[in-house]
Amino acid sequence: MNMLNIAKFGGTSVANFAAMQNCARIVMANDATRVVVVSASAGVTNYLVELANDDLTESQIDMLVKQIEKIELAILEQLSDPAETRIELQCLLSELSELAHNKVDLLSAEGKDGLLSMGERMSSLLFTAVLKQLGSPAVNFDARRVIKTDSQFGQGTPDISAIEQQAQLLMTPALAEQVLVTQGFIGSDANNKTTTLGRGGSDYTAALLAEALDAQTCEIWTDVIGVYTTDPRITDKARPLPELSFDEAAEMATFGAKVLHPATMVPALRKNIRVFVGSSREPEKGGTWIAKDCGDEPYYRAVTRRKDQVMVTVKTPSMLYAPGFLSQVFGIIAKHNISVDLVTTSEISVSLTIDNPPNSVRNKINQKTIEDLRQICEVTVEEGYDLVTVVGNNMHSQAGVSSRIFNALQNHNLRMICYGANPHNMSFLVNENNSSQVVTDLHQELFE
Ligand code: ADP
Ligand code: ASP
Ligand code: MG
Repeated sequence: MNMLNIAKFGGTSVANFAAMQNCARIVMANDATRVVVVSASAGVTNYLVELANDDLTESQIDMLVKQIEKIELAILEQLSDPAETRIELQCLLSELSELAHNKVDLLSAEGKDGLLSMGERMSSLLFTAVLKQLGSPAVNFDARRVIKTDSQFGQGTPDISAIEQQAQLLMTPALAEQVLVTQGFIGSDANNKTTTLGRGGSDYTAALLAEALDAQTCEIWTDVIGVYTTDPRITDKARPLPELSFDEAAEMATFGAKVLHPATMVPALRKNIRVFVGSSREPEKGGTWIAKDCGDEPYYRAVTRRKDQVMVTVKTPSMLYAPGFLSQVFGIIAKHNISVDLVTTSEISVSLTIDNPPNSVRNKINQKTIEDLRQICEVTVEEGYDLVTVVGNNMHSQAGVSSRIFNALQNHNLRMICYGANPHNMSFLVNENNSSQVVTDLHQELFE
């Protein structure tokens, strides 16, 4: 095969039968598209996280399971010949109900991942049927056979060489004859236990498969016509960007542009695979092409926001001239498997920020972490912040680049400022009630 494209469709793109039909047409319009990666239908993973995380009564569990069933069956019922798919879907729905009621298994991260995988397993089955109905030679392929990860359930780290080996062995031979429809987000560890890649991980799956199969392009089809100067939900002045570099896209994704999972650009960069982002509802409108280099490197490219940040400040007079204090603090945080984002230090204190989104399956800062930290220092935990970041290029190379940014921020309280680790972003921790206005003001100053 000469050209290979991987197409990934997000939750809203596979939310219902009509949306799936749009996606199927996109797949069939490009002969190079031989692998399709789908997310769970919109809303399903959130229901599954609720089922996995909370202490629910039996009737609450039944209600959530019913909500999911409703979404899946509505798609099934619109197939012209649903008989075969119905049998397989009923099996998956029974498995889901059983897992959701098994409270003992759900106490472990491993049990939760089994349940979380159900959304993609059902949507990929249904999407395969839609493609077949339109005349495509599609087959449903279990991603867990290929996406091998470590055993960190909830946030598996992919094993790149195992994935390449499995993909070449199990997928490549089939591609000439078939279109493989597989699940984003899910994988399996060395013991073949189901793992997941973290929320929004289907983009990452698509990029990993593109890398493993030596694809030239990877398309991320979603509900917006590309990557914008900022989240179009924050301001209607946001505009789509025709081109981005890998580095810019990676910074944007890291700092909250939800349209791409933070790790998506890593495989693309390793194998120089061009990534496209566009809308499955309006494919004719084009989208953003992300490549190694793009024409220009503006000082300001985009403004991003990451919500639900917690700021932890640790303080001890003994930090003064005391070697090893920081390593103790980070050691405790690492022991609790929490990942730290921003760090600033003063003479006797260190502040750091931690991501704390409500629907996450990742470890959050909890009482035990705080107690452990209190053994060595004073600890303050503040919630209710968002992180706003200006992403750009070479901000260090000319006077005045930051003054425009601060000009836009003159009426806002800034709780923390981070700049310097690289010259391509400047981040501000601000009160969550104020962050939309901060983004809007920055956008106006830098892009309008
Ligand atoms: P999918 O379900 O297709 O993966 P997501 O909801 O994960 O879609 O990502 C698409 C959403 O990302 C958009 O609806 C938009 O609100 C949000 N978003 C945040 N920042 C940006 C940005 N800079 N450009 C485009 N979309 C963005
Ligand atoms: N379904 C998963 C989620 O909602 C993965 C994804 O959509 O990318 O997080
Ligand atoms: Mg997404």
